[in-house]
Amino acid sequence: MTRKEHTIMDEQLTFRSLELAEPILSALADVGYETPTPIQAQTIPLILEGRDVLGQAQTGTGKTAAFALPVLSNLDLSRTETQALVLAPTRELAIQVAEAFHSYADHLPGFHVLPIYGGQDYGVQLRSLKRGVHVVVGTPGRVMDHMRRGSLNLENLQCLVLDEADEMLRMGFIDDVEWILDQTPSERQVALFSATMPAPILRIARKYLKDPEEVTIKSKTTTVETIRQRYWLVGGHHKLDALTRILEAEPIDGMIIFVRTKTETLNLAEKLQARGFAAAALNGDMAQQQRERTIEQLKDGTLNIVIATDVAARGLDVERISHVINYDIPTDTESYVHRIGRTGRAGRSGEAILFVSPRERGMLYSIERATRKRIDLMELPSTEVINDKRIARFQQRITDTIAAEDLEFYTHLVERYCEEHEVSPVEAAAALARLLQGDTPFLLSAKPEREPSRNADRDRDREPRRDSFRERDSFRERDSSRERDSFREEREPRKQRKTSLYGDEKMETYRIEVGKVHDVKPGNIAGAIINEIGLDPEAVGKIIIGDHYSTVELPAGMPNDVFQELKKVRVCGQQLRVSKMDDQRSAYGDRGGNRGGDRGGYGGGDRGKKSFGKSGGGKGKKDAPFFTGFNVPKKKRMKD
Ligand code: AMP
Repeated sequence: MTRKEHTIMDEQLTFRSLELAEPILSALADVGYETPTPIQAQTIPLILEGRDVLGQAQTGTGKTAAFALPVLSNLDLSRTETQALVLAPTRELAIQVAEAFHSYADHLPGFHVLPIYGGQDYGVQLRSLKRGVHVVVGTPGRVMDHMRRGSLNLENLQCLVLDEADEMLRMGFIDDVEWILDQTPSERQVALFSATMPAPILRIARKYLKDPEEVTIKSKTTTVETIRQRYWLVGGHHKLDALTRILEAEPIDGMIIFVRTKTETLNLAEKLQARGFAAAALNGDMAQQQRERTIEQLKDGTLNIVIATDVAARGLDVERISHVINYDIPTDTESYVHRIGRTGRAGRSGEAILFVSPRERGMLYSIERATRKRIDLMELPSTEVINDKRIARFQQRITDTIAAEDLEFYTHLVERYCEEHEVSPVEAAAALARLLQGDTPFLLSAKPEREPSRNADRDRDREPRRDSFRERDSFRERDSSRERDSFREEREPRKQRKTSLYGDEKMETYRIEVGKVHDVKPGNIAGAIINEIGLDPEAVGKIIIGDHYSTVELPAGMPNDVFQELKKVRVCGQQLRVSKMDDQRSAYGDRGGNRGGDRGGYGGGDRGKKSFGKSGGGKGKKDAPFFTGFNVPKKKRMKD
C-alpha cells in the first residue's frame, strides 16, 4: 500500500480543481462549502479515478462528501441499475448518508438513492428497488436480506463503500460485510472508511481492496501558549443561546466566530444582529472591498463580532480579537490551529472556545492529541450570572448618563409629572425603564430558552435528541424539491464517546431467547436491537450471555409496539422473544440452565473474558459494574 499524508492545508484547492462533474459543483455552491476538507482533497481524485481507497477518517472530517461526491460524479444516470452501494453500521447513519447523496445530487435530475435498513417495511424498499435506484445505502443485515431475496441486484455494481467499518466490526456485522463483499463483482471499486484501523479491518482491506491508496490526515500543529482553550459540550441549550450567554458574560473585546459554510456566516450574523450585537459576516463570496471594510470595522471597534469561514479568516490579524468561537467544529485539526491563532496576537492573551456536540467528541480528542494540549470543559454562564450582569450593565448605563449628560430639562419634566400625577419619582423611573426595555424580557428566565423538540425547529444547531425509543422513520425517496435538511438533524452516529448520554436513565432488564449455544456475542444482540428498533446505541446497557438465553438492559418505558417488534427480531437465527425479567434476575444469576453464563456488556471490554460459571453462579452479581458505554468487545466474530 502506498501512503498519502496530507500535512499542509492547500490554500488554492477548490472543488473545481478536483474535477468533479458540473452539476455536483452547482450543488456544492448551493450548500455553501468553500473548499474541500483534507480528507476530501485526498480522496475525491482517487475515487474519481476508480482507485480503491483505505481512508482513516472519523465523523466530522467531511468523509461522507469525500466518497459521495466522486461516486455521484462517476454515475451513469441513463442506466437504472444500482451502481454504488454504501454499507453503514446503523440506520441513522444510512439515512444521513442517503440524505447527503440526495443534497449533493440536487442538480442531477432522475437520480435515485435509497436507504435500506432493518425495522422499515419491506414493501417500500421493494417498490423503490424495483423501480431502480442508482445508489443504495444500507445496514448490512437488510442489504443481505435483499440480496438473498433477489430484490437487490448488484451485478453491475461499480463502487462499494464501507462507512465506519470499525463500528460495523464492533457491532458484530463484519461477517455480513464479508459475505456482501464476496457476492459483488470482483472488479468493483472499494472505498473503506474507518476511524480506527483494528487488525480485522486491515485484514478485510488486504483481502478485498486492490492496490489501495491509504489516506490519513496527519497534522503538524502547535498552538500559542497564551491562548486559553475551552470547550462546551452542546446540550441543554441551543448553540445560539449558548453563544449569547458567552457574549453577555465574558469580557469580550473583539470576537471571531467560525462556522462551516458561507450561508451560515450570513445566517448567524443576522441572528446576532437581531439580538442586538454588532456582528457581520466574512466569507469568500464577498467582494474584496467589502471584506476589507468589515476587517477595518472590526479593527476600529465599529464591529465587535465577525462570523467567518476558514478561508475568509485565514491570516486575519486584528489585535483586539480577544475570543475565537468555534461555533461549528473544524473538519481537521490544522484548521483548528489556524482558527484559534486569530486571537492571542502580538503577545496578548486570548480565549478559544469550541462547541462540541456529543457525536463530535472524536474530533475534540484528535485536536487535543494533535496540539498536545488539553482543552478544558466549560460550563455555560448560569442564568443568575447573566442576570447579575444585565442588572450591573443597566445600572452602569444610568450612572454614565447621569455623569455625561445635561439632564436639567428631563429632571423638570419628571418632577412635573410626579407632582401632577401624584406618583413617586421611583415609580416614574421604573416606568421609564420599562419603556426603554420594550417588550424584550429584562431577565433571563430560569428555564431553558427553548425546549428541544423533534419537529418544531429545524435549526442545525439543535441539541441532540435524547429519546431512547425513536419514532419510526420511514424514508421515502424524495424528489429534489423537498427540503434538503429534513433528515440532517436526526443524525447521531456514535463515535468514541467516553460517557453515556443515558448514564442516569432508569433501565429494565429483559430476557432474550438466544444464548451461548447459538454462538451469540454481545455485539450481535446490541447491533440487532439498535438497528431493528431504532434505539440509540448508548441506550443499550449490560448484556449478559447465558447458555440458552441472555439478558439485556434497556431504558425503562419501552412502548408496547416496540416491545412487540423486538420479540420478532432474529439474532443468530433465533427470534428474541423478549420478555421482561420481573425480579431483575440476570442470566448470570440464574443457576437453572444458565450456569457458566458468559458475561459481556455490549462490547463489554475485558468483561467478555470472565466466566461467571467459574466464579460460582450468582456470586459477585452485586459488584457487577453497570455499563452503558461502548467498549470494544474482546471476543469478536472474526475468525482471523
Ligand atoms: P462528515 O464527516 O461527513 O460527517 O461531515 C461533517 C460535516 O461537515 C457535515 O455537516 C458536512 O455537511 C460538513 N462538510 C463536509 N464537507 C465540507 C466542506 N468541504 N466544507 C464545509 N463543510 C463541510
